[in-house]
Amino acid sequence: MLTIHNNLSKKKQAFKPIDPKNVRIYVCGMTVYDLCHLGHARVLVVFDVVNRYLRQVFGAGHVTYVRNITDIDDKIIKRANENGEHIDQLTHRYIDEMNKDADALGVIRPDEEPRATTHMTQIIDMISALIERGHAYAANNGDVYYDVSTFKKYGQLSGKQLEDLRAGERVAVDEAKDDPLDFVLWKAAKPNEPFWESPWGNGRPGWHIECSAMSTHCLGNHFDIHGGGLDLQFPHHENEIAQAEGASGEKFVNVWMHNGFVRIDEEKMSKSLGNFFTIREVLEKYDPEVVRYFILTSHYRSPLNYSDKHLDNAKGALTTLYTALRGIDAANNVPCGEHCARFIKAMDDDFNTAEALAVLFDMAREINRIKESDVRQAAQLAGEMKQLGFLLGLLQRDADEFLKGGSIAASGGLSDLAIDALITQRLDARKNKNWAESDRIRDELKSKGIILEDGPQGTSWRRG
Ligand SMILES: [Zn+2]
Repeated sequence: MLTIHNNLSKKKQAFKPIDPKNVRIYVCGMTVYDLCHLGHARVLVVFDVVNRYLRQVFGAGHVTYVRNITDIDDKIIKRANENGEHIDQLTHRYIDEMNKDADALGVIRPDEEPRATTHMTQIIDMISALIERGHAYAANNGDVYYDVSTFKKYGQLSGKQLEDLRAGERVAVDEAKDDPLDFVLWKAAKPNEPFWESPWGNGRPGWHIECSAMSTHCLGNHFDIHGGGLDLQFPHHENEIAQAEGASGEKFVNVWMHNGFVRIDEEKMSKSLGNFFTIREVLEKYDPEVVRYFILTSHYRSPLNYSDKHLDNAKGALTTLYTALRGIDAANNVPCGEHCARFIKAMDDDFNTAEALAVLFDMAREINRIKESDVRQAAQLAGEMKQLGFLLGLLQRDADEFLKGGSIAASGGLSDLAIDALITQRLDARKNKNWAESDRIRDELKSKGIILEDGPQGTSWRRG
């Protein structure tokens, strides 16, 4: 029986889907104006494992996983202006970059990836419903605000009370708002900003309303699981509940899941502290599967402490697992045995991936013990280990390939991702008939021991 810690009830509870034939989960995705960082890597990997495991428990066709993209926002507008480009150009580029990182980390693409700019109708409809039901008001300045005093359960997720928030007086007083705690649903357009037409004039949505509108549009008013980083619990998720339930009059989400923060060498990761890492930077040093393994060594609710030492340990651990698998022709469709039962028990316990990894180690030890003496049993165990590894997105590569992957340093420090990026550049050059540039990239890769093979299916590569 799968149990999940529900941040709404603050308890670990048996997970009972509303409809076992369609288990529905929504996770807050990225705001696309820059490269993804390690905090994003954690959200991507943690909820990928949740998605994989739900598919295992309820059947692959019985889970709908939605992760949104915020493609209109102050930071996006600011960055596009700085770059002198159209916001669509900027957001499409960073959606591509995000997908490259997610793919490298072995993240299965969500079933739906709604974008705010293509859901304006749903967003405007939800704001209209909120006004109609007395939860929102249009201010004199053209903004629309949510009136938090009208939603009695405000604070239920974060445990914050309106009175305490008011007493804190940290909320800036804004003349347009009836109450400083009211939050914006629709922002009136400022000069030179992109805008959409609405009953309240030209403008754009606030960030919180996007998620309420997109999640209920994709999954219905009431669905099973809503996830995201712990930093989103307040005010983002608290506001999502107020909006969705205020507009529909129905319960919004049964289970709220939040993954913990990423810390760097026991410090908070932040640009101002200079210890801020993009996924891309980390993947220049480490194999993406090592990064994934590292993320899963901590329980998703705990803080995750990044350090080179921890990444080196993860690499060592993964090397041990792949070494056990090397040279074995793993069996397929192995029935769930004793190890598998322990693995499932760990995962059923609020996705205890650290414990699940420990089971894989026991299997590796067992395989090493019988590898020579009982080839058939070793093949069965290896097959079972790979099946369980799949649920964590690990151990799916050829063991030799992974073990040889240490050759990243040998190939001039080029990661798989960097090589793919260069191949894409070369492809663009060829499309533009820029043969000199195409040859230059080929030679650059060759000098680093990467051999390209052009074929009818495109360009493949191997480390020479
Ligand atoms: Zn969200």
